[in-house]
Amino acid sequence: MSYEFLGERLIRAVRKPHQCKACGRTIQPGLPATYATTIQDGEFFAWRSHPECREAEAVWNKQRGPWGQRNSCDEDYFWLWQAMEGEPIERAWLVANHPVAAGRLHISLEGCDYPEPARRWAV
Ligand SMILES: [Zn+2]
Repeated sequence: MSYEFLGERLIRAVRKPHQCKACGRTIQPGLPATYATTIQDGEFFAWRSHPECREAEAVWNKQRGPWGQRNSCDEDYFWLWQAMEGEPIERAWLVANHPVAAGRLHISLEGCDYPEPARRWAV
């Protein structure tokens, strides 16, 4: 396995909808996005995320594992939604430190997997 992180840059406003790789929700046209690129085993990968989601994901991966260090492989990396799945401590960390990203993943401090009924229908 070879993995090389090429870099990332901020797009001020995307022109068409994209799926955020970190939270799975749509990045609507006109909103900012982070565009990140890697080469894994000779293949080029590029993806977009909400800037807040990307930041939370990068911080989490840097704190929890060897990702970001030289010679780490792509398996060390967790998408934000993977990192939070069924992990109450990680979820509490996300709510406390990255509330915008937590909101996109419908994570609240109550530990409830689903939004409150009133919020579920909110636009
Ligand atoms: Zn997102």
